[in-house]
Amino acid sequence: MKDTNKHQGLRNQLVKQLEDKGITDKNVLAAIGKIPRHLFLDSSFENFAYQDKAFPIEAGQTISQPYTVAFQTQLLEVEKDHKILEIGTGSGYQTAVLCLMGAKVYSVERQNKLFKVTSNLLPKLHIRPKFLSFGDGYKGLPDYAPFDSIIVTAGAPFIPQPLMAQLKVGGRLVIPVGEKEQIMTLLIRKNETQFEKHEFGDFRFVPLLENKN
Ligand code: SAH
Repeated sequence: MKDTNKHQGLRNQLVKQLEDKGITDKNVLAAIGKIPRHLFLDSSFENFAYQDKAFPIEAGQTISQPYTVAFQTQLLEVEKDHKILEIGTGSGYQTAVLCLMGAKVYSVERQNKLFKVTSNLLPKLHIRPKFLSFGDGYKGLPDYAPFDSIIVTAGAPFIPQPLMAQLKVGGRLVIPVGEKEQIMTLLIRKNETQFEKHEFGDFRFVPLLENKN
């Protein structure tokens, strides 16, 4: 659990790269500049943790590429105290970014191993999401709805209706949609029945899977 000046130096370089790639949200960049990404990865990846790349984590899943995390988070337009639902806790890195931006984070993970590892890791790093849930993200978290925004960090074959229903009017849902490749999609809820849709470039995620239970 060591974070050194060397790690900080590498983080500063990563932030610079993300700025060069077009990330402008200062709060996103500040969060990425503070979070010890190497502690979210297996120690064998420690030397690569600040490269702008995805890496394997437990249960055949991946920690998203920093650029992808930054891009999705920027689309959310996070404000302090926003109540945010994340589907796909994974390593908890994206969760940490949202927490450092002052959001109240509710996150769902369907892989029990990852749920346990990440539930254990985050408090050690003094990162405190409001609620980590083990379950099926296709259903969202109806007991805690509505949310200011929702972020899905796995590739969804379609946009799950419960997630749309759990968004506040004016709220934003950021979700990569597609089977093999995904189109980053932003839905903004205009009123009870209408959503405005925006599409951004292609990304690649591990799939959003139906629950095993
Ligand atoms: N935000 C994570 C990304 C992890 S990859 C990170 O940066 O580390 C996507 C995650 O979504 C995986 O952990 C996978 O197990 C999870 N996932 C896939 N289908 C899901 C579902 N239906 N409900 C909840 N989580 C799901």
